[in-house]
Amino acid sequence: MPELPEVETIKNELLPRVVGHRITGVTLIWEGIVRQSPAEEFCSRLIGQEITGITRRGKYLIFGLGSGTLLTMHLRMTGSLLVSQDSSQLPKYTRAIINLDKDTSVFFRDPRKFGKIWLADNTDVLEAKLGPEPLESGFTPQVLAQRLAKRKAPIKAVLLDQNFVAGIGNMYADEALFRARIHPLRSGESLSPAEVKRLHRAIQEILWAAIDNKGASVENYFRPDGTLGTAHFQFQVAHRLSGKSCPVCGTPIERKPIRHRGSYFCPKCQPEG
Ligand SMILES: [Zn+2]
Repeated sequence: MPELPEVETIKNELLPRVVGHRITGVTLIWEGIVRQSPAEEFCSRLIGQEITGITRRGKYLIFGLGSGTLLTMHLRMTGSLLVSQDSSQLPKYTRAIINLDKDTSVFFRDPRKFGKIWLADNTDVLEAKLGPEPLESGFTPQVLAQRLAKRKAPIKAVLLDQNFVAGIGNMYADEALFRARIHPLRSGESLSPAEVKRLHRAIQEILWAAIDNKGASVENYFRPDGTLGTAHFQFQVAHRLSGKSCPVCGTPIERKPIRHRGSYFCPKCQPEG
């Protein structure tokens, strides 16, 4: 599933290829991808608009349009955006095509059809449900400590809560907790000040490294040019099959479902109590 580093990579790599281009056509191969407005209205409001910028908030991509309207996308489980100069070659599982001038097309590819796109006048709805951006300067160890106070849920579940902090998903939560040497079942409020500091640092280091490596291609994530990211080659515990050993101490990595999400950790480096 694309998380912050994957969506950030897509944004960075789309920017030079689509900003300043005008939308000349929209084809919905699967209309269910559009939310909040009828498909026809959605298409007609896009056509003729210039793409003025792209930003990311959490795992959301937000395209600014000349009219001031925002074209918002969530890739969910298996979505990706591919850019091509050749619109005759339709990538498999394409659900929507946005044609731009100068023979450029953006394909929304999504095998499992959980992804969605919609138009919005502002980001109020997103802001109301998203916590701070973990790579922005406002996200300090103090802010993390304040937000963890009275959180009784397992720290792994807390990190996945987009209202707690935006953009972290299953892979990077497992990696950050391993690096910080914190057991995923520890309650949020039980972390010591030293552990909070370690976790804060681990979250930022893990996310920056993954952006440097253009995201992790463990499932259906592609960069806009169709190539793969390499961040998963750096994973220490995430997505490792149970039985593989910890790269630090050699103990077999354990996998446990926590709130229905498979969580990988080293029982020795990340002691429970
Ligand atoms: Zn270990």
